[in-house]
Amino acid sequence: MTAYDTDNIFARILRGEIPSHTVHEDEDTLVIMDVMPQADGHALVIPKSASRNLLDAEPMALGAAIAVVQRVALASKAAFAADGISVMQFNEAAGGQSVFHLHFHVIPRHDGTPLRA
Ligand code: ADP
Repeated sequence: MTAYDTDNIFARILRGEIPSHTVHEDEDTLVIMDVMPQADGHALVIPKSASRNLLDAEPMALGAAIAVVQRVALASKAAFAADGISVMQFNEAAGGQSVFHLHFHVIPRHDGTPLRA
């Protein structure tokens, strides 16, 4: 497993070094809006603990994170009048990951509307 890079963009956001559109923050988790949303309301749930992705995350941190994913999913389903919610999470470049700090995509979906590229 590749080592965690403390200069990844979400680590820098968590340290307050670069701005983000924050919609929720608690002791364990930051939730921001994605800068290149694949649909309106595309949010990112970012655990504060330093893990590269799901493969090296502490199980306890995952429990807290998935509870926030559920809260964001319920809130965004209501706020965006969504028909459904996609939750996506990628691991390593081969798995589609481009920012190497664990995060979950929470994306409101509407019937018949594909995600933006
Ligand atoms: P992918 O880029 O293939 O979706 P990831 O799961 O690593 O892979 O997703 C990283 C996400 O972070 C992307 O959706 C990207 O738009 C988003 N992103 C990158 N930089 C920022 C930023 N500064 N603020 C908010 N979102 C960001």
